[in-house]
Amino acid sequence: MPEKPVTMPPVFRFAPSPNGYLHLGHALSALINHDMAKAADGRLLLRIEDIDITRCRPEFEKSIHDDLAWLGIEYEHPVRRQSEHTDAYAQALDRLKEMDLVYPAFMSRGEVKRFVADEEARGRDWPRDPDGAPLYPPDDRKLPRAEAEARIAAGDQHVWRLDMAEALATASSALSFIETGPAHAGRLTLDPSVWGDVMLWRWDAPSSYHLSVVVDDALQGVTLIVRGLDLFAATPVHRLLQTLLDLPAPIYHHHRLILGEDGRKLSKSQGDTALSALRSAGLSPVDIRRRVGLT
Ligand code: GLU
Repeated sequence: MPEKPVTMPPVFRFAPSPNGYLHLGHALSALINHDMAKAADGRLLLRIEDIDITRCRPEFEKSIHDDLAWLGIEYEHPVRRQSEHTDAYAQALDRLKEMDLVYPAFMSRGEVKRFVADEEARGRDWPRDPDGAPLYPPDDRKLPRAEAEARIAAGDQHVWRLDMAEALATASSALSFIETGPAHAGRLTLDPSVWGDVMLWRWDAPSSYHLSVVVDDALQGVTLIVRGLDLFAATPVHRLLQTLLDLPAPIYHHHRLILGEDGRKLSKSQGDTALSALRSAGLSPVDIRRRVGLT
């Protein structure tokens, strides 16, 4: 009899940041992850994305666990907390340093703003990233290494940025990914250079969202990334980092967002959609499913 091929169960993850209470948008994301994992006999992981130490708080983290338990969403333990794994992100950054694909960037946000305002006053159209932020000026990229090292040794505040042009030249292969979300399904090839030289390491937080998310998805063996459409545009950056760091390519599924009454994405400051507030107001998990359009 022919042997049955071994099929690994797909691995999903819900990856909230404990910088506020979970709201209806998070409920939709967690429930879709849960439902898809169940339907596929897959595994569901929870990852606490708490590298932004200035904004994350223990009470928000506790309430993530309480809200998910209330919704009936089970996930595997131990739960990965990013703040406990900064060495893994440092190693990834070191690898990119060895490849000469990152550089220390010394301009503060205010300095970038002034630089761009000056350029625009001279009639130059300064490019912006998909979030509307101006791309980082090229000057630091051209700084001689000895000068950059001297500034670091002198204690100059800096972050580490990816040299996008060099990174793209090094990755060489087309950065495609499989997307199964309803808005863009197919094999997609998108250009990460619209983000410019993305930040990979901040002076005030270990790592950055882009670097930690690709390192963790690989280390945790995540195969199907289900998250909101607000992160769709960041996916080409993640595919680029995965390619540079020799990490596997997961499948992506970006789902619709829940919008507030003003037509904008819900934010954690809109307390009336917080799951804890809705729970206190007497809503049940079934009501939440209905509110986010899942039956
Ligand atoms: N931590 C991110 C957030 O709360 C989600 C990261 C991801 O799903 O890739 O928006």
